[in-house]
Amino acid sequence: MVSSEYERRIAARFATFDQDGNGYIDREDFSGAAKALLAEFTTAARSDKGQALYVGAEAFWQGMAGIADRDGDQRISREEFVSSAVKRLRDNPDRFAEIARPFLHAALAVADTDSDGSATVDDTVRVLRILGVKDDLCRTAAAALDTDGDGRVGEEEIVQAFARYFTVPE
Ligand code: CA
Ligand code: CA
Ligand code: CA
Repeated sequence: MVSSEYERRIAARFATFDQDGNGYIDREDFSGAAKALLAEFTTAARSDKGQALYVGAEAFWQGMAGIADRDGDQRISREEFVSSAVKRLRDNPDRFAEIARPFLHAALAVADTDSDGSATVDDTVRVLRILGVKDDLCRTAAAALDTDGDGRVGEEEIVQAFARYFTVPE
């Protein structure tokens, strides 16, 4: 038996990926997140940063589909997510980090408004809000991402935190 706490956490992770809330994780959830991030940071889709974000979003989707879309219908149902994705991500958090890295790298570049290779905590809050993190949790979550406490969020901090968040321990 899995605990209800475990199931609640899985449901929250699914909802994070299911950006448009239609009950499935699919390509549009990833491209939609990319589009929303570009709008938030007034970055053109045709710019280098915009293109990299879309490429990263597609790679993230393809990686997730490869892990979890068992029936090949180009969408990940809640059942597929729970039975495949969660188990395999938990077994191999490094693999998940690599799947997510191109998207996270590109998202960081979009949020890195002064181009020093990291994002301020304030800009990280904007990213989290766009990705659907609840308003009252954004600041805490952004501060938690800054694990070395230098006031900025870098790529390794994001990738590692992302992998931790989605590899839910049972
Ligand atoms: Ca969806
Ligand atoms: Ca499927
Ligand atoms: Ca930092």
